[in-house]
Amino acid sequence: MFLDKINQELDILKEKGNFRELRDIDSILSKPGMVNLSSNDYLSLGSDELLRREFLEYALENNLRLTSSSSRLLTGNTNEYIELENKLASLYGSEKAIVFGSGFHANEGILPAVSNEKTLILADKLSHASLIDGLRLSSAKNIRYRHNDYDQLNRLIAENSSLYEKIIIVTESIFSMDGDEVDLERLVEIKKSYNNILIYLDEAHGVGVRGKNGLGCAEEKGVIKDIDFLIGTFGKALASVGAYIICNNCVYEYLINKVRPFIFTTALPPINLAWSLFIMDRIASMDQRRERLKKISQKMHSYIESASQPVISSSHIIPVMIGESSKACSIAEQLQKLGFWVMAVRPPTVSEGKARLRISLCADMEEKQIDSLIRALKQLVPPYE
Ligand SMILES: *Cc1c(COP(=O)(O)O)cnc(C)c1O
Repeated sequence: MFLDKINQELDILKEKGNFRELRDIDSILSKPGMVNLSSNDYLSLGSDELLRREFLEYALENNLRLTSSSSRLLTGNTNEYIELENKLASLYGSEKAIVFGSGFHANEGILPAVSNEKTLILADKLSHASLIDGLRLSSAKNIRYRHNDYDQLNRLIAENSSLYEKIIIVTESIFSMDGDEVDLERLVEIKKSYNNILIYLDEAHGVGVRGKNGLGCAEEKGVIKDIDFLIGTFGKALASVGAYIICNNCVYEYLINKVRPFIFTTALPPINLAWSLFIMDRIASMDQRRERLKKISQKMHSYIESASQPVISSSHIIPVMIGESSKACSIAEQLQKLGFWVMAVRPPTVSEGKARLRISLCADMEEKQIDSLIRALKQLVPPYE
């Protein structure tokens, strides 16, 4: 009975081209000449063997532990946490930072903790699943506004600001599927015209790659101080695991007492925290990698413009719009055969009829690889209606 039902559901996914499965990715990517265009290793730090060796020698010398064996509030709050959080606070110029097990944990835990029935959360329609789950777990009322539609956002605030104790605007900085950006200056301006607005900014795709010191879009735009909840993740450009929030002393104490996925989970292993710190010690000096990424991204943007594709992305994440899921899958497959590991992104990750190839670039890609990718796309991708 149960199995019949879920089999039917799986069949529907397959018919629509929306069925997902896990692959043996190592054997795929080890094929000679394969270019991985689906990785979030934007600065190519994760694939940097020298850097890894240097760290592993340090880890061995210091006999870094591979488990914390406990939650942070019990005995898991190792010295590595304290050093990493101090480093983050000093980089961002904040009083405090808190490290979480993952970005998903941070988002689904912080939002419910900082909101209640007297809160209204206004979230960009394209916000990440972890932010949406945070809304679902919160007792606040929430409204999703159209993607980057500041007129609608302004209207919603004008209508509601007197009805709620506070309003939290939730958005990503660089959006994970479209590769476009929030207008942070505009958001800060909106915030400043009221006295009860807070900004929650998820910089999962901004940290590492943006800003003079690689601290993200808020640094790039000079608005770090105006962001109430600034979230960064370690799993993408920073090539590690975990996430953090930049905050003041008061919010620090509050979150440690209230965020359930902070309290009721095992602390990260010291070796991973030490690697995150190793990266954060070097992130400010990664300009060359940031510049390279920018340069090859611009090359891809020129292709998008010349190919009658909708111009959406302003970053290293570049969607190539296809439309139907099955079509997107078949083009992705052809590209894979040509040596470009591109994945089709399909509903429910994006809305129905908006299946696409999601290309994410990494700093160590060679220009001639980008050139041959563009040649292949020109041949395979039909004009988008
Ligand atoms: C990847 C991602 C997350 C989740 O971070 P993890 O550390 O991978 O759990 C959160 N928000 C956005 C926008 C993301 O892209």
